[in-house]
Amino acid sequence: MQHQIPVAELGPQGAAMAHAVEACVHCGFCLAACPTYRVLGEEMDSPRGRIVLMKDVLEGNLPLKEALPYVDLCLGCLACIPACPSGVPYGELLMPFRARAEERRRRPLSERLVRFTIQQTVPYPGRFRLAARTGRLARPLLGVLPGDFRAMVDLVPGKLPKTRPLPTHFPAEGTRRARVALLVGCVQQVLAPEINWATLRVLAANGVEVVIPLAQGCCGALAMHTGDARRAQGLARANMEAFPTDVDAVITNAAGCGSGMKEYPLLFRGAEQEDAAAALAGRTKDVSAFLDEIGLVAPLPEVARPMKVAYHDACHLAHAQGVREAPRRLLSSIPGLTLVEIPDGDLCCGSAGTYNLEHPGMATQLGERKARSVLATGAEMLATGNIGCLTQIQAHLVALGHPLPLLHTVQVLDRAYARTL
Ligand code: SF4
Ligand code: SF4
Repeated sequence: MQHQIPVAELGPQGAAMAHAVEACVHCGFCLAACPTYRVLGEEMDSPRGRIVLMKDVLEGNLPLKEALPYVDLCLGCLACIPACPSGVPYGELLMPFRARAEERRRRPLSERLVRFTIQQTVPYPGRFRLAARTGRLARPLLGVLPGDFRAMVDLVPGKLPKTRPLPTHFPAEGTRRARVALLVGCVQQVLAPEINWATLRVLAANGVEVVIPLAQGCCGALAMHTGDARRAQGLARANMEAFPTDVDAVITNAAGCGSGMKEYPLLFRGAEQEDAAAALAGRTKDVSAFLDEIGLVAPLPEVARPMKVAYHDACHLAHAQGVREAPRRLLSSIPGLTLVEIPDGDLCCGSAGTYNLEHPGMATQLGERKARSVLATGAEMLATGNIGCLTQIQAHLVALGHPLPLLHTVQVLDRAYARTL
């Protein structure tokens, strides 16, 4: 697409943004992959429409406020990237555009309060635990809370699971095949702490020693995707210092965190930390991709009875990191387990970081659609690789009156090893 974007004025991200616009040939192949286009059927709610809007704003031909409703509604799910035959790097346009927009817009007070609450709680497990408990207490007030806060309280689970402190070192069983560092995440530590324990046990069973650096923190993905580049850089910098370089990989077990860490180079483009960011991003691997790469050596026992499990592709694992086959191969290697595909499986479940808090209407439509597709498979269990998807789909399965066991891929493997599947 021809453009007149003032590349030099846009700083280090300018060339990448302009390149994304140039690469789009308007073919429209991405439209069917885009969840918001599928729901609303409007060109401006499609990837192609949003690229034109962002281009017009960057060229100075459209006021920012006219593009924002459409750009804001984008889930950042990146389903448009694998669907695009021209290889448009949509994320390289969206992320810096949102960061610029955030500096130039004035949000209503209620939105600012919700975003502030999210920024000050979600990345910190202690604060998030406290906020979740407070949210539970606020449930009786749901009817009188402003809409933005209602969505937040609504998503707080009824009861939080017990947590146990994680060790800083977890030894490999048998001959050591690899040594890795683990990112333990923020929300996941509070809502599903067993995922980290399952990760440690499954890695250890397969000869992998794990270290958990104490100085690590939030990966910064939430800040990145809500346009708060400065906060995201601060969090990324802390992780670049915290994670050792003498490990075979830095393991993530939440798709959103993994793709966030892989985006560090974009965050530091043109800055002196760019190389360090690229090095950490290069070492970062989702646990399913890592296990698939090294191969499971601990034999998996047969499940107690044959069972059907559906696998949900988290957008930030499948679209952002290109990890699709690895978790399927791992799950299919459990004797007696049959993996089934979810119809329209590429469509986002509506979780998308804090999207379900900021756009509850669209998130609910997508969540309900996903829950119905899961039920259509007839599976007895759902596996996925992201805590956000897990929470969102679970909420909608419960709302439909058909709760299913929902586990992370490593939890399924862990249970298979423990013969409790
Ligand atoms: S598929 Fe790619 S090139 Fe075609 S309209 Fe979408 S973003 Fe543009
Ligand atoms: S990131 Fe997702 S919601 Fe946004 S334009 Fe691409 S496909 Fe649509």
